[in-house]
Formats: sequence, structure tokens, C-alpha cells
Amino acid sequence: KHFNAAATSTASSYPTSHEQIKTPEDTPNFLNNKFTASQASTWFDLYDPATNNLVTRVPQSTDAELKAAVDAAEKAFPAWKATSVMSRQQIMFKYVALIRENWDRLAASITLEQGKTVADAKGDVLRGLQVAEGACGIPEQMKGEVLEVAKDMETRTYREPLGVVAAICPFNFPAMIPLWCVPVATMTGNTIVVKPSERDPGAMMILAELAAKAGFPEGVINIIHGAAPTVDFIIDEPRIKAISFVGSNKAGEYIFTRGSANGKRVQANLGAKNHAAIMPDCNKNHALNAIAGAAFGAAGQRCMALSTCVMVGETKDWLPELAERAKGLSINGGFEAGADLGPVISPEAKKRIEGLIASAEEEGATILLDGRGYVPEKYPNGNWVGPTIIANVKPHMRCYTEEIFGPVLVCLNVETTDDAINLINANEYGNGTAIFTRSGPTAARFQSEVEAGQMGINVPIPVPLPMFSFTGNKKSIAGGGASTFYGKPGINFYTQIKTVTSLWRSEDAIETKAKTIMPT
Ligand code: NAD
Repeated sequence: KHFNAAATSTASSYPTSHEQIKTPEDTPNFLNNKFTASQASTWFDLYDPATNNLVTRVPQSTDAELKAAVDAAEKAFPAWKATSVMSRQQIMFKYVALIRENWDRLAASITLEQGKTVADAKGDVLRGLQVAEGACGIPEQMKGEVLEVAKDMETRTYREPLGVVAAICPFNFPAMIPLWCVPVATMTGNTIVVKPSERDPGAMMILAELAAKAGFPEGVINIIHGAAPTVDFIIDEPRIKAISFVGSNKAGEYIFTRGSANGKRVQANLGAKNHAAIMPDCNKNHALNAIAGAAFGAAGQRCMALSTCVMVGETKDWLPELAERAKGLSINGGFEAGADLGPVISPEAKKRIEGLIASAEEEGATILLDGRGYVPEKYPNGNWVGPTIIANVKPHMRCYTEEIFGPVLVCLNVETTDDAINLINANEYGNGTAIFTRSGPTAARFQSEVEAGQMGINVPIPVPLPMFSFTGNKKSIAGGGASTFYGKPGINFYTQIKTVTSLWRSEDAIETKAKTIMPT
């Protein structure tokens, strides 16, 4: 029944350090509102990224367990669909209150398994919680349309749930991304099977426990675990009608293509290489702080991290000052007071990131600040990479063409606003971008000409709040961005529109002869 130290705790008692868990317990599945031990033969060891101590083992759920989750969701669907929107809303109100009550405990689980600092993990929970809060208002947004289209005749639309849907989640936001899916899917009347990342499922396990407490009926929310075999099961299981995926291009393009070929709805948010254009007329202090925070926060493991700086004109001379600010950041275990960034997720991620820094050096870029080899005294065994700034980068270099997903900022120099816009638009990714300027006309031009889907003007990480939608562009979203997470498009994704045209005419007004032509 237990899995990680945070999951076994309560809202008022949860881990506050990276201390080795004495008896790590395996992560179970969650079916029909119960945690059930997996009979798996394959397990993934999950280590605290700050210490590489074992936290839990995550199963590759067996075929029978995967099927049982869909059985549970399928069985629960008719009654859940028939539950009134107001009753569903009452459950969501309780769910929101319980998430808020367990906010610190959820954050502790994230720090333990994912590595980000507690303060940042609280932001991870809050951004998901806000989607759940927004979902309480879905009855208003579920309303259809009605029009009297002819005498005695009207057309109405209804939004109906799809049935069983699935979510496949990445490691970097263990609470926020499941909460982009679960509240919207369930409030619109679907039942859901969630596959959290096998690298940090703990937050989703707590969210499942809270969902049961809030009153979600058995089978409405279920959790299965694993890697590619679980994903293939989700893609090929005909009873799953829609898949929400967030993660890398490699996995997401495959899931989108094969899931769509199987006739499912698929929404897939993918990788990124977000550029910030620094204009000479900007507020320098604000821009440098914003960039240091957005490049290195969460150890750069955010899909909206500002990982690329476009230094326009003389702003290239500001880089030493940016390096000074980055040096001032504290890299430490996420539970430590004052930590600004924690470790990266795994030893493999650290090796990959260090390899990309080395490649930049070999290709002739300048390593202005080198985070390789940094080790905080208390945590000699963690996956540490300190803030790194690579200057004089050229677009052909590997550190520019690949998503680094670590605390590494690559900086390119250009002369003009035109050059900056052209460079950003030539990049194949288009998740987010930012410009720092005091000029309204320059900002307006950037806004209209740059092709990224989420833009900040003097704002470093412009993730849209839940009343909007997460609108990546280009290679950062599959299917040309036709389907995006949360907000109105999220409701569209999880619902099918039924359009009903009805005629109610008094008996004596009905004609006696049949008409065989289309009405003209
Ligand atoms: P990932 O693609 O490795 O994993 C995501 C999910 O896919 C996991 O549940 C994993 O089990 C599964 N998976 C991994 N490889 C697979 C494969 N070969 N076949 C089938 N399934 C597979 O991604 P990650 O490392 O967990 O997350 C980081 C990535 O996610 C980065 O590229 C980041 O930019 C992206 N991301 C994007 C957004 C966004 O909204 N655009 C948000 C967060 C993260």
C-alpha cells in the first residue's frame, strides 16, 4: 500500500530532507480507487536525483493490469457520463480543496523524485491546481448552441464525452501535466487511464488518493505504469478513444502518428528550443534577472525554459554580467533552504548535457560559465550540472540544433531586429519565445512576425493560465497544433459534438405528400 515517503505521509507530515528512505516500497497501480500491488517482472528503480538513493521501484505493469485498468474505466463510463454536471462539479470542488490541503506533501514528493526545489515544486502543483480550479467552471463551458433554423424547427448542439481516454506524461512536471488532463477529461464526463512518467509517478499517486477521497467513483481515474510497452498498449487498445501526450519529439511523433492511424484523437506537446531576443533598449536589470531565472530554474528542465539568447547589437557585452548573476545561484538539494536549482533527473541526463557542452567547445563556441564538475558538499552523489553559459554559438552547432534540457544557456549574436526575427523563425521548434525591449513598435513587430506559439514581451516564461490554452507551434506540437491542452480547446479535445435538428409542428400543418428534393 505504500510507495514513496511523501505518498505514505499525510497533509501535515511529509519528508523534508533527502535522507535515505529506510524501507523503500514498490509503487502500485491504482485501479477502481484502490492501490494494487503489481505482479510485474520488470521494474524501474527510481532514485532521488540529489543522492541517487533508491526511493521506490516502479513496475512495468503487466498486460493483465493494463487491460484491467481499461476494464475499470470502461465499466465506470456510462454511470459517470450520466452523473449530472453539478454532481461532478461538487466532486471537483472537493478535489481542488484536497489538492490545496496537500500542496506541500505533493511538492515534497516532486522534490524527492524529480529533484526540483520545494519552492519550484509548489509552483508545479499550483499550475496544475489552477487547471483543476478552472475545470470547476466547465458546466458553463459545456453548454451547447441552439438556433431556430426554420419555422417549428431548431438545431441544438450537445457536448458529449468520448469514453475512456488516456494521458501519457513526462518527468519534468509530475503534478502539473497530469492535472492538465485529469480535471478537464473527467469534468467533461470521460473516464481516464493515466500513465505517469516511470521516473517520478509519486505526485500522480497522491493525486489519485485525493481523487478517491474527493468522491470520484471507482474506475473514473486509474493509473498504470511502465515505459514503451505501456505506451504501445494505450495506442493500440481500441477502447481508448483519445490520448494526451506531453514529452519529447521522439516519443510524441511516434504516438501521434500511430495513435492517429488507429483512429484516435491525439494531442501531443513536444520539445522546444525557446529563444529570448535581448534588445539594446530593454531594462537591462530586468532582462538579465529574467533570463537567469528562466534558463536555469528547474535546472533547465522546463519545456518553456529560455534556453537560447539572441543578443542583439551591443547586448552581447552584457554576457559577463549575466554570468555573474548565474554564479550567484545556489545549486543544492531541493529540500535545502535557499536552493535555486536542484540536480538533473538522472546520471544519463547529466552525461548527455555535459556531452553537449563539450561538443560546443569542440565546435568553437566559448564556454563563458562552465557548470560541469560542480558538486554541492552535502550531496556528492547527485546528478549535478551547474549553470552554464555558452557564448558565440552558431546555428549549425549541436548545442543549438538539439534540445539540451539542462541548465545550459546558449547565446548567439546578431546585429539587427531583422536578424533576430529571422534566426528565431528559422528554428524548427516554436514552443515559446520572449523579447526584452522598451520599444512598443519593436515588440509589436516581434509579436506579429515571430512564429512561436507562446510569446512573452518582457515576460520570460509566458505559460498561459488555464482560461487560455497551451499553444505551442511548429515542431513543438504534433498535428500542426490542431489540438491544444486545457482552456476551450481542451474541452473540445475531450468532447464530441452532437448536433440535433428537430421539428415539432402541429399535426394539422404537416403536409400529406412526401418531398424528394433537397430544400432550396
Ligand atoms: P519522454 O518523451 O522521454 O517521456 C514522456 C513519456 O513518454 C513518458 O511517459 C515515457 O514513459 C514515454 N516514452 C519515452 N520514450 C518512449 C518511447 N520511445 N516510446 C514510447 N513511449 C516513450 O520525455 P521526458 O524526458 O519525460 O520529458 C522531457 C521532454 O518533454 C522534453 O523534450 C520537453 O521539452 C518535453 N515537454 C514538453 C512540454 C510541452 O508542453 N511542450 C511540457 C513538458 C515537457
